[in-house]
Amino acid sequence: MRVFNIESVIDEFETVTKSAGHHQRETLRKILEQNGKAEYLKNLGLGGRTDPESYKARVPLVTHGDLEPYIQRISDGDSSPILTGKPITSISLSSGTTQGKQKYLPFNEELVQSTMQIFQTSYAFRNREYPIGDGKALQFIYGSKQVKTNGGLTATTATTNVYRSEQFKRTMNDIQSQCTSPDEVIFGSDYRQSLYCHLLCGLIYSDEVQFIFSTFAHSLVHSFRTFEQVWEEICTDIREGVLSSRITVPSIREAVSKILVPNPSLADSIYQKCVGLSNWYGVIPELWPNAKYVYGVMTGSMEPYLKKLRHYAGNLPLMSADYGSSEGWIGANVNPSLPPELATFAVLPNIGYFEFIPLEKLGMQELESSLTSIHYKEAEPVDLTEVEVGKEYEVVITNFAGLYRYRLGDIVRVTGFHNCTPELQFMRRRSLILSINIDKNTEKDLQLSVEAAAKLLAEEKIEVVDFTSHVDTSTEPGHYVIFWELSSVSNDEILHSCCNCLDLSFADAGYVGSRKVSAIGPLELRIVRKGTFDMVLHYYVGLGAALSQFKAPRCVSQSNSKVLQILCMNVTSCYFSTAYEN
Ligand code: AMP
Repeated sequence: MRVFNIESVIDEFETVTKSAGHHQRETLRKILEQNGKAEYLKNLGLGGRTDPESYKARVPLVTHGDLEPYIQRISDGDSSPILTGKPITSISLSSGTTQGKQKYLPFNEELVQSTMQIFQTSYAFRNREYPIGDGKALQFIYGSKQVKTNGGLTATTATTNVYRSEQFKRTMNDIQSQCTSPDEVIFGSDYRQSLYCHLLCGLIYSDEVQFIFSTFAHSLVHSFRTFEQVWEEICTDIREGVLSSRITVPSIREAVSKILVPNPSLADSIYQKCVGLSNWYGVIPELWPNAKYVYGVMTGSMEPYLKKLRHYAGNLPLMSADYGSSEGWIGANVNPSLPPELATFAVLPNIGYFEFIPLEKLGMQELESSLTSIHYKEAEPVDLTEVEVGKEYEVVITNFAGLYRYRLGDIVRVTGFHNCTPELQFMRRRSLILSINIDKNTEKDLQLSVEAAAKLLAEEKIEVVDFTSHVDTSTEPGHYVIFWELSSVSNDEILHSCCNCLDLSFADAGYVGSRKVSAIGPLELRIVRKGTFDMVLHYYVGLGAALSQFKAPRCVSQSNSKVLQILCMNVTSCYFSTAYEN
């Protein structure tokens, strides 16, 4: 039974965003009152003050590295008020694939509350445009491994922390359709078996499914790539009512066997639909005829998966989900009909206190002398209501779980305002991933180069399944290495052109100049065997990542030796650019 009142959620959002400035001050006051006893704030001499001016004057901007010693003490079991008034009892593990290292972050009930608020808000707006009935949702969601820290705290991914919350489950059942898979599948100990069963359960309830979801688009694409491999086996399971012997985890077997009964007509219909598809185009609406949309984060590092996702989704709308991180939520997608490429996120002014560091483009002269910051110089942070449309900023978060003026490392652009709160477009991670000397390339630069070069493969109907990069300085001069996994084999001539195109597409002045004078060597394209990126995924899941929260690392450093080893051991061919040869 759905008791959720869409109009009241929208009204509440409209009210809060109309007085965004007031809510920001109030939220900061609450955060500082709740945590006034925390050692961190006491040491900074706030002395009980809760106004933004005193706060900004005394509390410095920090990065994760600055807070690490405090978080370490918390995870080692020190329960004194370190970062928060009330002791922290759980830790979230960030996916760690952006920086190559998992970060520990404090987690508490207030973060569950803000998750619900964000989900409810975007759901209300989505449902106004794409109403869904009382049916179910095929959700590719996974609990990740839970580990105990030295001090006995539970550490797991933020999504697992949220999905395990009883309160969250109750609220979600009210506002979202019930997941087609039982909890035993979501929290199963083997993600491959869970994925198979998500697909199977989704098909058992195919007529009832209202939408398809995963946290990130990567996981949606990964699910349907897997479906291409296992669909016949799933049909057999449904026809005979007996679960495949590949499902060996007892809890998953038992839970799924309870809902699996022989259904030859459903199996035949799935079989016929699958054989009738051309290269799996539109498989989602074909098999889930009542689904209204496909939902998940599709922006930022998920953009490279959009093309494939559109292929599977056929005529179904793709809707990009909200913007948040293990550090906390930032904004909700309240314009659901915008295509993912244009998706924006309205900041909720009462879930945290937000500041924005303006990024000013550097002039040419400054650019040449700048070795530290990339293309930009930084100014003083501004408040939520002071940001300007069209400008780019780095997001700074103060939350209820012990992060104070924390630089998130994400760059956003302000596209407009919803009442008095800004709507943000996610641009990129701030950090450089490829840099040898004066060259400066971000994850976004790499993505654009890969997109440009991949166009050369399109004529042959070959896709780049996934990609990453590495800076090889083992030879003099150092050079960029790009790893590609392809959907099928291409020929040497085309791949060599792709390699040249990659090299030429890194257009920043530092790279081009260095290439011209051979201070950086020719770019190298290495093609890896099919399935290599699944091995990388498998490795990260073993470390505690969740499949649904997985982001492929876009650069693999020498210190990430295990992943580099997986990639290098699976190289089938490599090409060196001749783009800068005279
Ligand atoms: P994690 O804490 O490991 O889940 O990663 C959080 C990071 O994922 C954020 O800081 C962003 O860089 C990225 N992210 C999260 N949500 C979005 C979104 N809607 N669009 C683009 N990037 C996102």
